[in-house]
Amino acid sequence: MSVSRTQPHDPIRSTRSDQLLVLGSLLLVIAILSIVAFLLVRERANAELSATRSASNIVQLIDADVLRNVELYDLSLLGLIAASQREDLKQVSAAIRHLALFDRATAAPYKGDILLLDNKGDVIADSASVEPRKGNFADREYFQSHVNNRDPGMFISRPFRSRQAEHEWRISFSRRVSGSQGEFLGVAEAAMRLSYFDQLFNSLSIGKDSSVNLISSDGILLAQEPRLAEELIGKDFSSRPNFQRIVKEGNGSFTSVSSRYQDKRLYTFSKVGNLPLIVIVALSSDEVFASWKRTAVVVSSATGALCVSLLWLTWLLRRELRRRHNAEHELAQLAATDALTGLANRRTLDQALRHEWFRAQRSGMPLSLLMIDADHFKAFNDLHGHQAGDEALRSLANVISAHIRRPADLAARYGGEEFSVILAETDSAGARQIAEHIRKAVEQLPMIQGAELPMTVSIGISTWTTSNDISLESLLFAADKALYQAKEKGRNRVVATQ
Ligand code: GH3
Ligand code: MG
Ligand code: MG
Repeated sequence: MSVSRTQPHDPIRSTRSDQLLVLGSLLLVIAILSIVAFLLVRERANAELSATRSASNIVQLIDADVLRNVELYDLSLLGLIAASQREDLKQVSAAIRHLALFDRATAAPYKGDILLLDNKGDVIADSASVEPRKGNFADREYFQSHVNNRDPGMFISRPFRSRQAEHEWRISFSRRVSGSQGEFLGVAEAAMRLSYFDQLFNSLSIGKDSSVNLISSDGILLAQEPRLAEELIGKDFSSRPNFQRIVKEGNGSFTSVSSRYQDKRLYTFSKVGNLPLIVIVALSSDEVFASWKRTAVVVSSATGALCVSLLWLTWLLRRELRRRHNAEHELAQLAATDALTGLANRRTLDQALRHEWFRAQRSGMPLSLLMIDADHFKAFNDLHGHQAGDEALRSLANVISAHIRRPADLAARYGGEEFSVILAETDSAGARQIAEHIRKAVEQLPMIQGAELPMTVSIGISTWTTSNDISLESLLFAADKALYQAKEKGRNRVVATQ
């Protein structure tokens, strides 16, 4: 415990409770921010998950619908082949044969014509009319494939543009017509207009910046809903990295930047049955996360405001705590200090002396006490007045505290023109040295105007040691006695009790 005149009051200091308050509220803010961030990230993942789910539902729906239709096409082809090989049908009229060859049940608006070709590729039966059209399809990929391959399975062509006026995209399904020895007799072929997909896609509701696409495995865009641009249909996408990734992965979904629209898109895709077609649902990230973004903005701003308020309140509370702390500190300082000299007062001296005395008992180190009394001070006062007397006491206090250097030492005003100095861990010789220094320094203080003699002090010293082991009262008494002796001997001197 040290009260020193050089610190009339402390500047703002942070206390433990102060630091706890700041740390606590910072942790609280970090916790709030982490929880909100965690929830927002999870919400975003959920938004993405549900978008992916609904996209893959769309893909599956298309897949199932197409597969069912392809099956119907295949049934028609099988029916056509079976009917064409019946001898009895060769006897009936062309109209009846036409009825037997072509099954009307599957005739849907998007359905292309079903043709029966002979082994040279000429049309010999045509679902469109009883009188088959004139035409030869020997150059078609599917025809060549069936000529060279005995496999009776269905061949699915790549998408192609029809020869007819509309030039619309089609895909064809064909099967080989083989004789009893496996010889090539011709081909049954059914075409499907890919505008069928337009119809299918039309019924799906999807954001205006998102799209459902049908792309051939060669990268040709065959159908799109909604149509993002008219000229895109028929365009080759095979060189696009996103398309290459889709072809490589077959089924799945990923998020990537669209090379055409330069925005982030969530692609969900699947091969359509075993057709050379891929359905891709491309959802615009902006649309997928639009609702999440609105929530995120609201929640983040509310959280931000909450955290700022919390920090602001903490700051207010901290300022108030510091004010109180400083006020308390100043009060304590005042209560411990002598008003005239700024040295410790009698009360502080008593506490410190008791504290140091007990400490000396424990450590066994000597403890010295100086009693300093101004000589003939009453006369000084009488001569120069109380004001000058006070000023002289202040200079005296300054000199004394200037000679106290160790933190455990304490200079105090004992009362009136008497001062005390506690010198911890200091023996009699050391105390005498310090006392002498003080005495000399006082003597050398500049004289006040009109004075004939310098101001002087007498100093009594007592020391506690393990060998004398005197009580605290005796220590005080001994210092007093030594001071009395110094006065007796003529003042301006130092006397130590033996
Ligand atoms: P001695 O050398 O024997 O100590 O003589 P002295 O006159 O100093 O002793 P005494 O105890 O008789 O007088 C003390 C004087 O100190 C009384 C008073 O005038 C003066 N004094 C005590 N306290 C104060 C104070 O706070 N201010 C001033 N100006 N004078 C004080
Ligand atoms: Mg006195
Ligand atoms: Mg005196």
